[in-house]
Amino acid sequence: MVLSKAASENDVSVHSTFASRYVRVSLPRFQMPENSIPKEAAYQIINDELMLDGNPRLNLASFVTTWMEPECDKLIMAAINKNYVDMDEYPVTTELQNRCVNMIAHLFNAPLGEEETAVGVGTVGSSEAIMLAGLAFKRKWQNKMKAQGKPYDKPNIVTGANVQVCWEKFARYFEVELKEVKLEDGYYVMDPEKAVEMVDENTICVAAILGSTLNGEFEDVKRLNDLLVEKNKETGWDTPIHVDAASGGFIAPFLYPELEWDFRLPLVKSINVSGHKYGLVYAGIGWVIWRSKEDLPEELIFHINYLGADQPTFTLNFSKGSSQVIAQYYQLIRLGYEGYRNIMENCQENARVLKEGLEKTGKFNIVSKEIGVPLVAFSLKDNSRHNEFEVSDHLRRFGWIVPAYTMPPNAEHVTVLRVVIREDFSRTLAERLVADIEKVLHELDSLPARVSAKLAAAEESSSGVHKKSAMEVQLEITNVWKKFVAEKKKTKNVIC
Ligand SMILES: *Cc1c(COP(=O)(O)O)cnc(C)c1O
Repeated sequence: MVLSKAASENDVSVHSTFASRYVRVSLPRFQMPENSIPKEAAYQIINDELMLDGNPRLNLASFVTTWMEPECDKLIMAAINKNYVDMDEYPVTTELQNRCVNMIAHLFNAPLGEEETAVGVGTVGSSEAIMLAGLAFKRKWQNKMKAQGKPYDKPNIVTGANVQVCWEKFARYFEVELKEVKLEDGYYVMDPEKAVEMVDENTICVAAILGSTLNGEFEDVKRLNDLLVEKNKETGWDTPIHVDAASGGFIAPFLYPELEWDFRLPLVKSINVSGHKYGLVYAGIGWVIWRSKEDLPEELIFHINYLGADQPTFTLNFSKGSSQVIAQYYQLIRLGYEGYRNIMENCQENARVLKEGLEKTGKFNIVSKEIGVPLVAFSLKDNSRHNEFEVSDHLRRFGWIVPAYTMPPNAEHVTVLRVVIREDFSRTLAERLVADIEKVLHELDSLPARVSAKLAAAEESSSGVHKKSAMEVQLEITNVWKKFVAEKKKTKNVIC
């Protein structure tokens, strides 16, 4: 009797999942469970827990694509079971990746002949792309130093302090010193003059960023190139440039085609771009392109033949999905130059609407630049009572995910909020966000100053007779809060 009840209670093909015991027991978190559970129950439970993740479309923190056309979603799902590395088994997928490499290389003005194929590879993202580019520079430099009979154990890279964390990873994992040009108040990207000053004989490359992660600003790659050409002439070195165009690589060619930042500049030897940022593909794809064969040392390329024919590969990992490569090819041919340009113009326009809305509040300094990646970075003019982190926190209540962070050295005292404008962030959302930020500011104004500000104030005035304890400060804050709630209740009653 008991047994049959238990059996029927667990049979989700008959009963609702919510009538089964699976929603009543806590889920295993450390060890794999002994027994199986029905697929319907597994689906429901996992799906429901995931509801508590943020909504990707409202995640304004990220550059990474959160929307694609349903037709492309179909292609992605159809290829979900294809391992990209099986190139001999899936030759068409490999061919599509090669077409993408060629198209992107041309977009970056690689010096290629009519029928010449470009040198590059699809990666999991810009991070892997940067590791590969960095390794190529390191190996080339080592070979050169060896040939000259010089020591080759202290390679370095010159970057701005605004570099994305993957450069620090590269430096640590592959034992290259990162020499960072410090930022300054009001100038949040690498100063090309200072960068070139830092270059020495052990510098394997200078890495410039097209679209700084912090404020979207383009670094002056042309000036860097010109200064470095001079220095190379004086010293006899041949220090090259890598451009980290993770976010800007699919912006500049469409919005600023005249801007020289790519292979038009002779010292630019490799460029990376994230296909999953403004390349408009879901997370999981990046690209690295080399200027020519000579810039990618042959000894870094592996030739595998156990999957069929000889396949050259230059990646860090072996297996990966094919869907993202196919999706990138879809976007390139579906949108074409025209489509990408229209989308990037829309992003730029919506960024402008947001920026003007924020300026109108009179409460913010805009830290992002007119020219750059379409994002708006802004900080509070007065953050003595409430800071950017509180604005970010309060916006979460409206569903918006807007990050706040401090700048790297020497601008650590500056905190900014950043909204990345993606393809799927339309004008309506931009206007709504401004309205919600206004509401948040209003709310914050009526709240007591945050505890830390109070404590600081208490400490400052402590030179006098009585130093307030943290407890007293907290008590005072609670009292102000109570008063505020009481006031609010009163006004509410009046309105109702
Ligand atoms: C996003 C970003 C990266 C890292 O790229 P992933 O594609 O996320 O690996 C590197 N550099 C810059 C400038 C970026 O914006």
